[in-house]
Amino acid sequence: MERKNGPAVRFDGIAKSFDDGASFAVAALDLEIAGGLFVALVGESGSGKSTLLKTINRLVEPSAGSVSIGGEPVDGQDPADLRRHIGYVFQNIGLFPHMTVAENIMIIPRIGVNETVNQVPELLDLVGLPEEVADRLPSELSGGQQQRVGVARALAGEPGLMLMDEPFGALDPVTRDQLGEAYRALHDELGLTTIMVTHDMAEALLIADRILVMSAGRIVADCSPQALLAGEGGEEASALIAVPKGQMAKLRRLEEGA
Ligand code: ADP
Ligand code: MG
Repeated sequence: MERKNGPAVRFDGIAKSFDDGASFAVAALDLEIAGGLFVALVGESGSGKSTLLKTINRLVEPSAGSVSIGGEPVDGQDPADLRRHIGYVFQNIGLFPHMTVAENIMIIPRIGVNETVNQVPELLDLVGLPEEVADRLPSELSGGQQQRVGVARALAGEPGLMLMDEPFGALDPVTRDQLGEAYRALHDELGLTTIMVTHDMAEALLIADRILVMSAGRIVADCSPQALLAGEGGEEASALIAVPKGQMAKLRRLEEGA
């Protein structure tokens, strides 16, 4: 697959209320994400992460403001067309159980069948799966393998932009770590722009170039993993960081036999 030049994503005054303005899941937010960046979006449950992510591919229509990808406002684009060019991976990816892996991968791009068939082995190879899984049903794969198929499916439309909503959240820690690393390598190799929602601060710190912390619909911190670790993200970010930092300290004491 060709190396892309991942597009920039820009939010201008984006807000979303699900209750006619009584409360806001996302509150008047301005943000620019440079092309090619790997951004992690973290924050407590209910802070608006998924809602913000879905304004990009129009699964959520904002109450105010606009989103643009590579300078093109998304609200002027046909939602189905738009989504064909944006990869979307979420927890429990929802592979169709009665379709083979190859069929699951092919369902997204809806481009010439021959072209897609040729793509399946390449896509499987990209996500580290052997070619022979193509003819299996999802139930014949492990959870980690199924999420790899989910990533392959998202890549089938040759997107420049990948949106990931807790993509590895349901996996065991070892598989999760492996998939996170493998995906980060793919992001770099393909030159993608990636926005990944995760509730796992350690994962965010290890995988992303930039971390956005959301709280009550707002971005309360926006910095590099290093800056966040140094306490530059403010109070709410520090509270989130305290968890992996505390674990690290406990492990060290354990190792030292204290
Ligand atoms: P997160 O992904 O950070 O856990 P969400 O974006 O899913 O948070 O939700 C943010 C807020 O918006 C929550 O209060 C949630 O209940 C509300 N919300 C999300 N989706 C809907 C919806 N479809 N209808 C009504 N309320 C919603
Ligand atoms: Mg969510």
